[in-house]
Amino acid sequence: MTSPAPDATRLRVKFWGVRGSTPTPQIDNLGYGGNTPCLEVRLPGGEVFVFDAGTGARNLGAALMEEKHGEDISVAIFLTHFHWDHIQGIPFFAPLYEPNNRLQFISHCSTGPLQEILGGQMAKPYFPVNFESATRRRDFVQLDGKAWRQGALLVQPFPLTHPQGAAGYRIEANGAVVVYATDHEHGVAEVDTGLREIAQGADLLIYDSQYTPAEYEKHRGWGHSTWKEAVAVAQDARVKQLVLFHHDPSHNDDTMSHITDEARQFYDGTSAAREGLTIAL
Ligand SMILES: [Zn+2]
Ligand SMILES: [Zn+2]
Repeated sequence: MTSPAPDATRLRVKFWGVRGSTPTPQIDNLGYGGNTPCLEVRLPGGEVFVFDAGTGARNLGAALMEEKHGEDISVAIFLTHFHWDHIQGIPFFAPLYEPNNRLQFISHCSTGPLQEILGGQMAKPYFPVNFESATRRRDFVQLDGKAWRQGALLVQPFPLTHPQGAAGYRIEANGAVVVYATDHEHGVAEVDTGLREIAQGADLLIYDSQYTPAEYEKHRGWGHSTWKEAVAVAQDARVKQLVLFHHDPSHNDDTMSHITDEARQFYDGTSAAREGLTIAL
């Protein structure tokens, strides 16, 4: 029997931002990271897809520019919703300003025209560079529940429970399945059941674990969940790996390590997202 080739990875996920709500660049948080949500999904052919563009997108953009050495960059950016912590990296995403680069912005939530929503945070007096001065090779795609296919990638949006709405994404390529479910509060049976169905048997579940169960009692209705619910979903859906995500700004490295240890007692395949963490599937 031959051993698998070293490049047998079907899909790779890299975390560039893991913090919820607001960046927390204080020193006691940096073991896990202070940047807000941004994920890179990379296929074996080198195609890059981005999920959320919080402040972590700045470092991802710089890395892509370095990697491409002046070659054109083509990237699709899927947004879960438009709260600041998921879009604030866009004005600082360097590939935005190279005229030959092609960017596709993709969203499921229809709270208004996507181009206007994204341009709004770069309008006077909030930012000195207008969104219109960015590359003209931009597309804005509203999924409205439809799946997205590009090459080997298949992305299916699904609804989450969050103030002003948020979408989760089931990401599949070459037989590997990642379910990205951030900015979600458990408690609406229909949505929670749908999440469990779509996550069934996934290789990796990335789940909003902002609060401890005790903290959650004071934050009902704020749109976030707990590590306890994360392990419940992981168990019910029989996922292979669980990554706790969207860490509360008040959770320093010690707290995060403690939470991870606690969650592991219930679900062995648990880890907490940290900046730079790369998972190959
Ligand atoms: Zn958020
Ligand atoms: Zn949010």
